Amino acid sequence: MLASVYSITLISICAVALVVFILLFFVSAPYGRYQRGGWGPAMHARAAWVVMELPAVLVIAACAVWAAGAGRGVFSPEFQALHGGTALIVPFLFLGLWQAHYVYRTFVFPLLMRGGAKPFPVVLVLFAMVFNTANGFVNGYVLFLSGRWYPLPWIWDPRFLAGVALFVFGLLVHISADTTLRRLRGDRSNGYLIPRGGMFELVSAPNYFGEIVQWLGWAVMTWSLAGLSFAVFTVANLLPRGVRYHAWYCAEFDEYPEKRRAVVPYLL
Ligand code: NDP
Repeated sequence: MLASVYSITLISICAVALVVFILLFFVSAPYGRYQRGGWGPAMHARAAWVVMELPAVLVIAACAVWAAGAGRGVFSPEFQALHGGTALIVPFLFLGLWQAHYVYRTFVFPLLMRGGAKPFPVVLVLFAMVFNTANGFVNGYVLFLSGRWYPLPWIWDPRFLAGVALFVFGLLVHISADTTLRRLRGDRSNGYLIPRGGMFELVSAPNYFGEIVQWLGWAVMTWSLAGLSFAVFTVANLLPRGVRYHAWYCAEFDEYPEKRRAVVPYLL
């Protein structure tokens, strides 16, 4: 039963990614610089970020608690008898990396953001909550409930090492880009300026580039369809928006650096 829920959820995430990817080339998600009326009730952006990202923190942790409480998956007596307690180390390492990202995105990013009182449509918050619940579930299912075995030597596997390197690099890139953007609004206005320095010299949306690299790293290190579906969704969601941002900057600022690409350095 649970395996079927997992499969259906996974397929749904991929289907939604395809729809989102196509749609975002025609309609920009109505928040931030594309915030506009006609999307129903809205809430403050700062609260919206906390509410919509919170399921990502909670659901994957709930999968671990559920597996432990019910003696399922990696906590089942059969699994423990076969693989021993060290088989829990890698799944919990993954959980730690996931939470490092989501604690930042859910609590630190909104707390520090400038322009947090901007309206953010509730309908987008609900969509993001559903997505984060589904995504937290499929990833939590693979790590804790499915009974998949990540042996301890997985931490020396090239897929794990390359995945962690990409994940950490991506995390640092988007946190650093978030910080640069925040500092642009030193006067606490809601306006937009040309970001400069670091990866902004290469692309207009290094925060999106970092996020994409990070979740590609997650897909590689977990070597799972759940990880891959999240990476695909992230590309589908952020690539079209990043391309729009680039066009917006070029149209808005005559002096916008010509060599800068949209999202992928030197390529796109
Ligand atoms: P944006 O780059 O649109 O905005 C980030 C913050 O910087 C906002 O507070 C924004 O203000 C401000 N800002 C942006 N550009 C400028 C500028 N030129 N001058 C001054 N301030 C600026 O990112 P998002 O809000 O779309 O996303 C935030 C983070 O969440 C990103 O790191 C992104 O990667 C991640 N994310 C991940 C998703 C995923 O699918 N995994 C989906 C969506 C986001 P304002 O809001 O007023 O525009």
